[in-house]
Amino acid sequence: MQLPQIETGSALAACDITGLEEFVADRAIEHGTAAGNETAVKDETSEPLPRGVAVAGDAGSALTRRAHTEPPHAYRTPFARDGARILHARAFRRLAGKTQVFTRLPGDPLSDHFRSRLTHTLEVTQISRTLAGALGLNLELAEALALVHDIGHPPYGHAGEKALDEALNAHGLRFDHNLHALRIVTWFEERYPAFRGLNLTLGVREGIIKHSRDYAAGAHPELREYFLDEFPPLEAQLIDLADEIAYLTADLDDGLDSGILTVEQVRESVPLFRGFHDAARSAYPAAAPRLAVYDALRRMLNVFVSDLLAEVRRRIRALGATTLEEVRHAPARLAALSAETEAVRASAKRFLYANFYNSPQMDEVHLHGARVVKQVFSTLMTEPRLMPEDHQAQIESQGLARTVTDYIAGMTDAFIEQMWERCKAG
Ligand code: MG
Repeated sequence: MQLPQIETGSALAACDITGLEEFVADRAIEHGTAAGNETAVKDETSEPLPRGVAVAGDAGSALTRRAHTEPPHAYRTPFARDGARILHARAFRRLAGKTQVFTRLPGDPLSDHFRSRLTHTLEVTQISRTLAGALGLNLELAEALALVHDIGHPPYGHAGEKALDEALNAHGLRFDHNLHALRIVTWFEERYPAFRGLNLTLGVREGIIKHSRDYAAGAHPELREYFLDEFPPLEAQLIDLADEIAYLTADLDDGLDSGILTVEQVRESVPLFRGFHDAARSAYPAAAPRLAVYDALRRMLNVFVSDLLAEVRRRIRALGATTLEEVRHAPARLAALSAETEAVRASAKRFLYANFYNSPQMDEVHLHGARVVKQVFSTLMTEPRLMPEDHQAQIESQGLARTVTDYIAGMTDAFIEQMWERCKAG
């Protein structure tokens, strides 16, 4: 997850829910008021998009090109192979030990059911598959992009990323997790005797960089092969929304589970939740309270996904787009929520910022994570020999600060904690 980059000062706006009541009431009708009937929603959103807007996935297509030519596989498409390469990468497995929202510090009580960056990634992948499948897009490309979307994240989530960027800034450089993800798949992963990196297709590499933001061509000449003056295909555009939808509902779940958020608080500030929660409680008055919470969250997720499908279709229709080129040159990104659902999403996100991400309990862990990252960075800058030899060998071509950053970015929370202990002892 890329933690949303909004100012915390606007947190009080979470309470500004004027006009949402009607929206919620409408959604409660559309998506059912009793468990199990949301599948009754069947409208034009279940129709696939024009075939030509999807990325072509056959071995001869432009976006399946690889830096090192490889013979096509007998029965797997290039994007399916990329998904598998990502799944088998060491950096992917390390996501299991990286913070999504909660960091488990040594001595913390067990909390195995909170999302890690790996389980978050799998939730994004599931939503992305649903979206791409319903729209008739390239499902294998969407899946590969979802699997890889957070592979460049350092330890300690957003706090770790910010600390690493600040440490690197002092050396005139920046840390960006999307660009770092590209470094991982094009260089750091070593699994093939013939080349470094995973030799992923152009379509997956473009999506890694551009799924969540656009990069100015002038500022990034090194990225010129990735069509920087064009929007990415819909398969990539959807990943950012799938990410938002996944973590919004998951973080309400984990926030409630942790006790940092209370059901009353969420009901008060997230009217969409309240509408579905009321419906679940009245349909199943004898059910355990947490089951009504799960039901409400599940229906919220369904509202966001259904709205996104409808809005993508609406925008494609309005533009009359029938080709990928038209998607790339559209006046704006075509994957988006409708204005009213976007307002609901943004309001819920502000609530999470004010009451969860920036809660005193979380602040303490963020400060700890930032301190550890900066101290380990500073120690490695003065004693690069503490890094493994293959990392030390990068110093000559990459420079010391970038090499130290690359090494730290790859660490899990537990690994950097151990490194920090060693730094303190040394
Ligand atoms: Mg993510």
